[in-house]
Amino acid sequence: MTKVYYDKDANLDLLKGKTISIIGYGSQGHAHALNLRDSGLNVMVSTRVGGDGWKRAKEAGLTLGSTEEVSKASDIIMMLVPDPVQHDVYEKSIKPFLAKGKTLMFAHGFNIHYKWIVPPPFVDVSMIAPKAPGHRMRELFVEGTGVPALLAVAQDASGKTKEVALAYAKGVGCTRAGVLETTFAEETETDLFGEQTVLCGGVSSLVKTAFETLVEAGYQPEIAYFECLHELKLIVDLMYQGGLNYMRYSVSDTAEYGDYTRGPRVIDEHVRASMKKILKEVQDGTFAKEWITENREGRTRFEAMRKKELGHQIEKVGKELRSMMGWLQAKK
Ligand code: NAD
Ligand code: MG
Repeated sequence: MTKVYYDKDANLDLLKGKTISIIGYGSQGHAHALNLRDSGLNVMVSTRVGGDGWKRAKEAGLTLGSTEEVSKASDIIMMLVPDPVQHDVYEKSIKPFLAKGKTLMFAHGFNIHYKWIVPPPFVDVSMIAPKAPGHRMRELFVEGTGVPALLAVAQDASGKTKEVALAYAKGVGCTRAGVLETTFAEETETDLFGEQTVLCGGVSSLVKTAFETLVEAGYQPEIAYFECLHELKLIVDLMYQGGLNYMRYSVSDTAEYGDYTRGPRVIDEHVRASMKKILKEVQDGTFAKEWITENREGRTRFEAMRKKELGHQIEKVGKELRSMMGWLQAKK
């Protein structure tokens, strides 16, 4: 069994008298900065000057500075700008201010694992990767609980990297829920694989393909939307609370029989082979290289895909239906 760390395993005193800088004030950045501050720690924030994050950090009463200033002034630097821009921000504004005794931290292993960032050997390098979006992380912290996180150490120059990372996890509320130990390689590869094959890619494609199949066969798009997208949440909630078999216990026997007999025909050996290929591309860095290149070349292909997907019929039908369902707190 993996070791799980809780509040009692972490010592916040290791961070007392130290300065922590949060680079980037987006989804993760705002949650880390506010939670650490509310834990009584000394926090500085850097984000794009004049941007949205800058205004919100200022309104929250946080101390702001340029990335150069905060990197220079702090003992712990948490990198929370988007993964594709981390290399440039690091090279220009962080690397020159690294010194012995400092800690460089990440919330995802991408840049360290694929070596887009190679820190000098005299700094500590660790990861606290919360397993939830930043807004959820902040909400639960305020309520007195927290979200689970993964911990990893890439470089341990001081001999205290893990203890400091655990203290950080306590400061952001993650040890209230549990912190699991992993490696940069395992976190990065499983995270990319999971979001590509199941959480984002797999599920979106499954939903869209099923919706299209029903609509092409002449069924009403509104009914197809309910069956293929809306009801997914009810099923996932059951799985989340009690696993696949709790879901099966809750649905009808007819649905359960369809699950056993038709599920493997949809997700067949061909899908398994594709998943293996996708995993290989994650492991050998092919995906990472493609994504960094896409960013460096101006993200034109990415933006085109985004535009095309926004125009899909399921999005239009869904928008109308959600506006009629006041109780579900529709997001635009
Ligand atoms: P985000 O896009 O929500 O926020 C990024 C922030 O960085 C924004 O405030 C943006 O203005 C700022 N920024 C962008 N370019 C900048 C630059 N050149 N200089 C300074 N600031 C700049 O990103 P996020 O989702 O919070 O992701 C941050 C990190 O957290 C990533 O490593 C990501 O993999 C990881 N992570 C995200 C989630 C999640 O659910 N969002 C969960 C776990 C880990
Ligand atoms: Mg993830």
